[in-house]
Amino acid sequence: MLVKIIFLFLLAMVLVALIGRAFFPSSLPRVMRKRAGAPRCQKCGRYLIGTKTCDCGGGTK
Ligand SMILES: [Zn+2]
Repeated sequence: MLVKIIFLFLLAMVLVALIGRAFFPSSLPRVMRKRAGAPRCQKCGRYLIGTKTCDCGGGTK
């Protein structure tokens, strides 16, 4: 009996999540969204984390 209730609860949560995603795609958490891309050096392509300029002299833009 208890298992049934838990199962129904989980099912309801999944439904709510699906409906929420269908109606509000922009409100997805960041992790689930496709990232536009981390900032990278235009010259060598290294990721620039916490800095705007690269060791090679290139920048993000
Ligand atoms: Zn670079």
